[in-house]
Amino acid sequence: MIVMKFGGTSIGDAAAIRRTISIITKKMRSKPVVVVSACSGVTNMLHQLVDFTEEGDKEKSEKIISSIKERHKSTVDELASGVDPKRPTPDTTEINQIIDKLCNSLWTLSKAHMGGQIPDADKAYMISLGEYLSSHIVCFMMNALGVKSAWIDARHFMITSHDYLTAAADVHEVQKRAIGIIERSFKNADVVITQGFVGVTVEGDPTIMGRGSSDYSASLLGMVLDADRVEIWTDVDGVCTADPNIVPAAKGIGKLSYEEAAELARFGAKVLHPLSIEPAASKNIPLYVLNSMNPDSEGTVVLGSSCIFDGIKSISYNENIRVINIYSPKMINTTGFLTKIFSTFEKFGVSVDMISTSEASVSVTVDASAPVEPVARELGKFGNITVDRDKSQVSIIGKNIIGVKGAVAAVFDAVSDNKIYMMSQGSSFLNLSIVVDRPEMATVIRKLHKVFFENGN
Ligand code: ADP
Ligand code: ASP
Ligand code: MG
Repeated sequence: MIVMKFGGTSIGDAAAIRRTISIITKKMRSKPVVVVSACSGVTNMLHQLVDFTEEGDKEKSEKIISSIKERHKSTVDELASGVDPKRPTPDTTEINQIIDKLCNSLWTLSKAHMGGQIPDADKAYMISLGEYLSSHIVCFMMNALGVKSAWIDARHFMITSHDYLTAAADVHEVQKRAIGIIERSFKNADVVITQGFVGVTVEGDPTIMGRGSSDYSASLLGMVLDADRVEIWTDVDGVCTADPNIVPAAKGIGKLSYEEAAELARFGAKVLHPLSIEPAASKNIPLYVLNSMNPDSEGTVVLGSSCIFDGIKSISYNENIRVINIYSPKMINTTGFLTKIFSTFEKFGVSVDMISTSEASVSVTVDASAPVEPVARELGKFGNITVDRDKSQVSIIGKNIIGVKGAVAAVFDAVSDNKIYMMSQGSSFLNLSIVVDRPEMATVIRKLHKVFFENGN
């Protein structure tokens, strides 16, 4: 069995869905379990719908639901009309009824909560509908092309915690349910299609697992099913030496270790969800990152560390972060100071990414979306607080990076014209991160890429 995950752009329109179906059909002998995201942009539209509903904007809510409906219906029409002329034109009545039903349920919830706070479970239901629409369409088209495909609702097995919008999977419960459901589906089908991103509590309330978490759904399924491989199909040639949207010269990386890929994802490389590595790694399952727009490109394989050479593999970034600086002379020669600081972050549920300390001060970075003001107020009890806004973190990532001769000097040399607010070398020896002004981030990434990947290095 293999697990294949297709992201939003891989199923963004009829042409992309056709390409994706041809990729899946080439893997039929491996019993593919296909995990899909919503079509590109649809999850954002559903988030907007939630906002318009809470703001009580009936007109905009209605408009967004009808554009979601139209987009999916016109994709179906285009797919159906493009089927091989030797085959009968597929009947689209049922798939159109499914689209109507899903969009009607959006409208029912939107009307019920117009101008009020939507309960989180209903929000999770609404935001997850993109995955339901796309998975039904892919399944419809596979069957229309003569590939026996079974659609399954991930909410029959993806049991999660009760944090409805950022739920954590309950691996034990998922394992108990997924194997039986999927094995049974393969009795009458050659391909199984399900949704990423969505989950359900044990009581049956809908949940979602956070933005970009379809990668995680796929890796987790790969783990519980003991898959031979997990394939993450996206819109770039694998994990690259930098985000190709920032550095056009970025190249795909052939091999990465699980640790390197996890560090890259944690330090901002959006191509993989930060949680998506661990499940595959726990069973040593190779995880491939491949380009559905260019299926013949080699892509990246993520494997155990013993197969990977030391050295810098990629540059990642978090574009919008804040640096919180805590200055306190009381810190000198005292114990327990850091405990107080970190319990404050814990109290507000704020995750800290980079840390650097000196004798009388501590600086940490947090995501710009974190509630910095209340944290800073509370930290004020322990010292003087300053917050630097509009900053970006840029990291170079690779196995045993600190053993790479001249790496640190090369970083400083490349960014000698840029102001560096903070620097930290991850304790895992896998990353070296700096904080720069946000408007300079792209230039800094390009300079570093030139030094490490373009000058024949
Ligand atoms: P999907 O919808 O397939 O899940 P995402 O948009 O979540 O795709 O992730 C793919 C995007 O990740 C790429 O288009 C690219 O802009 C971005 N990205 C960031 N860092 C990297 C990197 N190091 N290598 C490849 N892509 C990266
Ligand atoms: N559709 C969801 C999102 O846009 C999940 C995913 O793409 O992985 O965040
Ligand atoms: Mg993604």
